[in-house]
Formats: sequence, C-alpha cells, structure tokens
Amino acid sequence: MASFPDAPDLSAAEPCSNLALIKDYPNLWRPPADGNVALVGDALMSIDPLWGVGCGFAFQTTEWLVDEVAPVLRDGHPVAPALRSYAKRVSRELNGHRFLILDYARRKGFNAVERLSFSAAAKDAAASRHLHAFGARLIGPARFLSPGALLRAARVDFRRPSAESAQPGAPV
Ligand SMILES: Cc1cc2nc3c(=O)[nH]c(=O)nc-3n(C[C@H](O)[C@H](O)[C@H](O)COP(=O)(O)OP(=O)(O)OC[C@H]3O[C@@H](n4cnc5c(N)ncnc54)[C@H](O)[C@@H]3O)c2cc1C
Repeated sequence: MASFPDAPDLSAAEPCSNLALIKDYPNLWRPPADGNVALVGDALMSIDPLWGVGCGFAFQTTEWLVDEVAPVLRDGHPVAPALRSYAKRVSRELNGHRFLILDYARRKGFNAVERLSFSAAAKDAAASRHLHAFGARLIGPARFLSPGALLRAARVDFRRPSAESAQPGAPV
C-alpha cells in the first residue's frame, strides 16, 4: 500500500488488538415502523457489508425519520401517519438496493448484467460515472439498470477492446 497515491505512513503502526474476524454475518432486516416504534440504521437493516453502504443508510434513514416525525411532534399531532410515511419512503428507496445486495450475497461470481456494467465502466468514462453513481447510491437500481443504460453499456463493451482504459494515461 506504500506505493498508493497519498498512502498513510504505516511503517511505525502497531496493532492495537487482535484482528476481529466475522465468519457468519447473516442478512437481517425488519419493518421500518411498528406501532409507535421506528427503526433506522442497522436496527432496520443489517446486510452484507461488502458494498460499504451501512453508514450511509444509517444516516439517510435517520434523516428521513426526522423529516417525517419532527414537524408532527412539534405541532402535537398523532405520530402514526408520519411513521407510515417514513416506512413507505424506506421501502421505496431502499428495497431495490437491498434486493440486489442480497442477490449478490447468495451467489458466487458476477451475473451477466454485472459483467457487462463492470466491463463497460473499465472502458468508458460515462459508463464508469454511471456505475459510480449507483455504487455511491446516488441513483437507484431502476436507473442503473434502465434499458438505455444497459444498451449504452453493451455498445461500449462491444465496440471497445478490453485493453482500452477509461482513464487516459493510466497503465493498462
Ligand atoms: C465488517 C464490516 C464492515 C463494514 N464496512 C462498512 C463500510 O465500509 N462502509 C459502511 O458504510 N458501512 C460498513 N459497515 C456497516 C456499518 O458499520 C453499519 O451499517 C453502521 O455502523 C450502522 O450504524 P448504526 O448506528 O445503525 O448501528 P451501530 O453502529 O451498530 O450503533 C449502535 C450502537 O448502539 C449501541 N447499543 C446497542 N444496544 C444498546 C443498548 N441497549 N443501550 C445503549 N446502547 C446500545 C451499540 O453499542 C452501538 O454503539 C460494515 C459492517 C461490518 C460488520
């Protein structure tokens, strides 16, 4: 890692504890709201950490909950409709991401769509930005896998040889 750009100097680093290994990490999720109890973060959904989305989802679900509940609490209105609205938003925005993360966790290797998207992203700047937008969860699965995006990826993948990099000047 010392050869990475801006790598931290780890030459004097010491391990502060034993390595913690997780061998069995089940995918778990619950309804966003039940009665007057609402769940955010890992209490709502704790799934495969491979994709690095747990902290973002924890902040995001908290923000959605506060957006819904703060005004009704302030004005002394019943909280149940706000919690139902929070639950709907969580389902609408996160169910697709969860579906794809669970789907990947259940198999070994990439499926055809993943192979196509990753291959096109390695060859073309726009395809790379599109994959990044999905990986950073700036867009959802519906936009990521839209027919237009898949057609563009197929065109890139078909036309450009695999040795051609999307990063001009990068060693291939
Ligand atoms: C190996 C691994 C790698 C990960 N990598 C990433 C990554 O790269 N990027 C990313 O975004 N996410 C990653 N995650 C997921 C991320 O860590 C979690 O999604 C995130 O920490 C969830 O935040 P949270 O606040 O909901 O829960 P937590 O961070 O679990 O916080 C809950 C807190 O509540 C405390 N608590 C529990 N019970 C009680 C109680 N009864 N009273 C008081 N306090 C209590 C706990 O001690 C804990 O401090 C990873 C997870 C794992 C396991």
